[in-house]
Amino acid sequence: MKDIKIYIATSNPHKAAELGRMFETEGLPVRVEGAASLGGMPECEENGDTFEANALIKARALKAVAPKDAYILADDSGIVVDALGGRPGIYSARYAGVSGAGADAANNAKLLSELAGVPDEKRTARFVCALKLLEPGGGEKTFTGTFEGVINHGGKGENGFGYDPLFFVPEKNMTSAQLDPDEKNLLSHRGKAQRLLAEYLKTIL
Ligand code: IMP
Repeated sequence: MKDIKIYIATSNPHKAAELGRMFETEGLPVRVEGAASLGGMPECEENGDTFEANALIKARALKAVAPKDAYILADDSGIVVDALGGRPGIYSARYAGVSGAGADAANNAKLLSELAGVPDEKRTARFVCALKLLEPGGGEKTFTGTFEGVINHGGKGENGFGYDPLFFVPEKNMTSAQLDPDEKNLLSHRGKAQRLLAEYLKTIL
């Protein structure tokens, strides 16, 4: 196996650290670097109309400032609610128009109010995560994971982030904010996409 370095198109050091741990668990000789080691994540407008398109925009923005022989990885994720025609989808992070502290609470309140009166059987939803890997030779690979659930009528649980307190996972009979992080990772959209990425890397390294 050859060693490689993957630059992650995020300014969030937790995302880079989490991926690093996953590669280690999978026994992959991959070093993970955040965008900070390339001078920070370049400004880019996430104006794609799919998760995959937005992941590609972020990956290409970082590639423009990375060494030629670098691998680049970007992700985009969100929640797709069937009764809302797929909203908030790619707009999940900015659904209620609030950023920073208070964004999650505002997003959850908006989701509950948009679903007011929608019966349980129509409150189905899924988290989606798209990962885009740009390879030094010009190759582009996409890995997608989904996580099925139902939007509850109120929040429950302290773990996780974002929409987790509202996201009821039928097979566990609890919300994703009540799952412990390892349990969530086994079921989650992000965990699934990351494991597909790891399987692919095993075939090329
Ligand atoms: P991103 O960081 O641009 O991919 O935005 C993802 C947004 O989708 C987050 O801000 C959350 O609102 C939501 N989201 C994505 N994954 C999860 C999850 O695992 N739990 C809860 N919310 C999530």
